[in-house]
Amino acid sequence: MQDVLNFIDGRHAPAACGEWLDDVDPATGETYARVASSDARDVDRSVAAALHAFPTWSVTPVVERSKLLRRLARLIERDLEKLARAESIDSGKPLSAARTVDIPRAVQNFDFFADAVTQFSSEAHPTDEVALNYTLRQPLGPVACISPWNLPLYLLTWKIAPALAAGNCVVAKPSEVTPMSAHLLGSLAAEAGLPPGVLNIVQGLGPRAGGPLCAHSGIRAISFTGSTRVGAEIAREAATSFKKLSLEMGGKNPTLVFADADLREAIPQTVRAAFSNTGQICLCGSRILVERSVYDQVRDELVERVRALRVGDPLQADTEQGALVSRQHFDKVMGCLAVARQEGGRVLCGGGRASVTGRCAGGFFVQPTLIEGLGPSCRTNQEEIFGPVATLLPFDGAEEAVRLANSTRYGLAASLWTRDLSRAHRVGAQLHSGIVWVNCWMLRDLRTPFGGVKESGVGREGGMDALRFFTEPKNVCVKL
Ligand code: NAD
Repeated sequence: MQDVLNFIDGRHAPAACGEWLDDVDPATGETYARVASSDARDVDRSVAAALHAFPTWSVTPVVERSKLLRRLARLIERDLEKLARAESIDSGKPLSAARTVDIPRAVQNFDFFADAVTQFSSEAHPTDEVALNYTLRQPLGPVACISPWNLPLYLLTWKIAPALAAGNCVVAKPSEVTPMSAHLLGSLAAEAGLPPGVLNIVQGLGPRAGGPLCAHSGIRAISFTGSTRVGAEIAREAATSFKKLSLEMGGKNPTLVFADADLREAIPQTVRAAFSNTGQICLCGSRILVERSVYDQVRDELVERVRALRVGDPLQADTEQGALVSRQHFDKVMGCLAVARQEGGRVLCGGGRASVTGRCAGGFFVQPTLIEGLGPSCRTNQEEIFGPVATLLPFDGAEEAVRLANSTRYGLAASLWTRDLSRAHRVGAQLHSGIVWVNCWMLRDLRTPFGGVKESGVGREGGMDALRFFTEPKNVCVKL
């Protein structure tokens, strides 16, 4: 059985306590590796290593830091196939998705911030003839990067890359559910020549490893992606020690389809928005709002397409829907389906466990599911399911569409489909959402601000926003 280890001060190591967690392949339900179950001692060692590395790393010339990040990107590219396979086995996502989306994006994250940091500049404020103010943006020190299981390497590197580029040292805490690609990243960081202590990875459970990390007095900032519940816990912890905080949390995102939309494009993209990564993307459009005059047509075509999605062995080339990430998450999603039925939802397709034969007979597969007939305030339309389940609601006119879209405590992303450009701008501005896609979904430009409003997030990642988050602005006032 393979060991998934911590990476501290440039070396892999088991947890100080010697304890392990099971790492389960969700496509088979079988344990295939064991994960270091770290605690405060491993966090202390990591933060000490980061503090030790920081004085040198923070003054390492930007071009040198940039070069090291590029080298790391090339090594990820070299090992793309190995990493994609590891990610697929660890998370249950189709190998084809890991190969074309997750791992290439990890490469892009390092390349992007290696470039961006060389263009990072700051403001000057001349005060008449009296003084010149300029803003220094300095790295913070050791920072914590905590990531979830749905896009394991993709999201971890989305945090690590800007943090390192800006001159911080990192203690990263990947999800205990999908720790494998972070483990492999540690080896590649060493091979790329990242000095020991610059990047540290602590594996293990949230409260046991992540908790002490957030509480540690040596940590200057926390960048967290995960659930709103855990985000709130971390915010409470960070408040008492005044740590800088960026929170990317849950969503219950609407897709708005107006009657004048190009339905040939809108319908397949609505399916993609709802069911990519088996619905386990924070940006997935799980509430499909359709203008009444085209509701029946859109519903019927959606059902046909969703029924045709191929659920199966993630390692098979033609699989479109893999396994859910864990037994626990599978049980949660099945519970949500039961709630939807109790609430009076009509299941249009799916609605239960998907049976996959052979090697994957014991895996955690759920049929892609569409449900209609539920009001906007029921649990199914309010709570994040984070699985292959979407609801359909009809609306009359833009005002009602906006009201329905905004009727949850979340506000991460929305996609809207219309040919009326004025309406697109108007509705886009009215949506309570950090990201609005018009006639597209998940079209990403890494320079744009990324994040949510309401209970979906605090702060923004991406582009210069990430570099600003990972630096402290200092005003220097020089009297002339
Ligand atoms: P989670 O909140 O359970 O865990 C996220 C990470 O936090 C894990 O590494 C976990 O070990 C750690 N953690 C848990 N308790 C902790 C604590 N007390 N202190 C410190 N760390 C702790 O989330 P998850 O189940 O892994 O991921 C799914 C959630 O992530 C969904 O709600 C989804 O919407 C959200 N998500 C949001 C975005 C975004 O960009 N907004 C992106 C992806 C996923």
